[in-house]
Amino acid sequence: MRPRLHSALGYSGIFAASLAAAVIAGWLGGGIDNFFYDWMFRLHGASDRAPESIILAIDEPSLVEMGGMRHVRRALAEALNAIAPAKPAAVAIDLILADAGDFDDALEAAFAKTPHLVLSSELIEGGRTWEEPLARFRRHAAAVGHVHGSPGPFDGVTRRVRLEEIAGHDRRWALGLEAFRLSRGIAQIEESPRDIRIGATLVPAARRDSRTMCIRFLRPLDDGASRIPRISLKQLSHNPQLAKQFAGRAVFVGWTAQSAFRDRWLTPLSDQAPMPGVEINANIFETLAGGGFLVPAPEYAVVFACMLLAAAGVLAFALRSGWQAYALAALVLLAAQLAPFALFTRGVVFPSLAPLAAAWLAAVGSGSWQYMTVRRQLRSAEADRSRYQQTLHFVTHEMKTPLTAIQGSSELMTRFKLSEDKRSEIASMINAESKRLARMVETFLNVERLSAGQMELRREPVPAGELVDACLLRARPLAERKNIRLVAGGIARVVLDGDRELMEYALYNLLNNAVKYSPPGSDVAVEGRLEGAMFRLSVKDQGIGMDPDELRNIFRKFYRARRAVETGISGTGIGLSIVEQIVTHHSGKIEVTSTPGKGSCFTIVLPARATAAAGAGE
Ligand code: ADP
Repeated sequence: MRPRLHSALGYSGIFAASLAAAVIAGWLGGGIDNFFYDWMFRLHGASDRAPESIILAIDEPSLVEMGGMRHVRRALAEALNAIAPAKPAAVAIDLILADAGDFDDALEAAFAKTPHLVLSSELIEGGRTWEEPLARFRRHAAAVGHVHGSPGPFDGVTRRVRLEEIAGHDRRWALGLEAFRLSRGIAQIEESPRDIRIGATLVPAARRDSRTMCIRFLRPLDDGASRIPRISLKQLSHNPQLAKQFAGRAVFVGWTAQSAFRDRWLTPLSDQAPMPGVEINANIFETLAGGGFLVPAPEYAVVFACMLLAAAGVLAFALRSGWQAYALAALVLLAAQLAPFALFTRGVVFPSLAPLAAAWLAAVGSGSWQYMTVRRQLRSAEADRSRYQQTLHFVTHEMKTPLTAIQGSSELMTRFKLSEDKRSEIASMINAESKRLARMVETFLNVERLSAGQMELRREPVPAGELVDACLLRARPLAERKNIRLVAGGIARVVLDGDRELMEYALYNLLNNAVKYSPPGSDVAVEGRLEGAMFRLSVKDQGIGMDPDELRNIFRKFYRARRAVETGISGTGIGLSIVEQIVTHHSGKIEVTSTPGKGSCFTIVLPARATAAAGAGE
């Protein structure tokens, strides 16, 4: 259960991190989103429609011909007079005619004869007010529009236009929008919070986004020339026949001369050559006339898509492994890559970076997490296997001795006629050995279960004196056989808290080792001392001892010191590892000091409390 929870927590963390990455990408990734937008726009966004607008250009040759800037209004008046008979659908003047100049009378007269005239205004003083055309010109205008594009904040590329601009309470629609409205003979623009309607044309431009609309620039012709026809003032004055081309079209009048560099903007289609402002206004008109709008995806849809991609990326690895997981993750990444483009071809502008960030982080993060989890599981499986093997080893070694005794004795009983006394002696030996075997199995299993977390430690009050006495009693026969003196002293009247069986096993093992690895005639001392809340119980011998290198290893399963092996004393090297585990499970520790040839001292330190008469028994 625990590894599963661990892994679920890991995957949830990666999911959350992927969403966070998507949010950050949404905030900071505008430049990259723009890059993708332009790329998709060139592939699938530009409009191939036949233009309805035409540009009446004030270009360099026209300026030269008219005799300089001073004569612009005269030349413009003449041009307007020339095209008036062709009845253009609307005429939008992309010049701010705010100051009085030469030839204003002529221009005013021309304006008076121009139906559906749209003049331009511009926000000034940091957007607080409008710079307006002169009142005498305004009088003849059917509308006054604004001429602001909305160059992107990262790269100054014009991709969108705010169809409405407001200074105080004074709101203006974009020049191209007003020209479109007038060309369609519509008196009023109907508004709702989500869109605006010009006659039959519904423009999805929400109020809270300042009515922002993506401009569907017309794709340039094969030779790179603009699709929107352009006739200059000079061309028109030289060839009055050209006036016919303005018939029924929306005319956009403005600067195209290189000298008017301030009114030139980069667009998704312009590699390096910027587009004159007047042409951008004409493109705004064409966007409205074409009707195929590019609409930004709603925020909730973007968030939902990012969540979906992140979840899919994570689930690919959480639920599958191997090639299936990688194939699924690849599909998720492909979807994150292709979805914005597929949506773009259907007119929905979807940010590219946020879903990519969510999908990549989810897929790569979960993939790495799975790799690490699988490796951990493998390692733990290996540890399990080796523990299992060690257990088998222990069972075969440690239990062989009592089993052999039982087997041999029972054979004796069946094969030979034995006296009653002998039979009962052997029977009680078999009984004692099988009990020992059962206790050994029980202890061993308990320690294994404790280590695997499958068993709670049994806790009961165990008087230290009782514990020491029981162990001394068990060790005595062996000690007597080797003529070793067991001395006990300083066992305080303390009560230990824990599993009596296990603690007995631990202390008996230390005593047994001390006797086993000591020469005949030596002493083995058991001493106790209460230190604060801990009881220090040490077993000290005058035996073979160990060097520091050996000391470092004696708690490893199956380790036996060279000296111990050389003495020919049998052992399995497992007892001390069990003692250490028992002591650790009791929130205690084991310490050992030893000098080769002189003896060793093993001390187990266990939590304890003094009984009322503590110290009296010392
Ligand atoms: P075993 O005694 O069955 O070999 P243990 O795990 O009890 O296994 O002990 C591990 C090793 O530690 C022993 O093989 C021996 O080398 C060393 N050892 C343990 N107790 C003593 C001791 N009292 N004196 C010297 N060496 C000891």
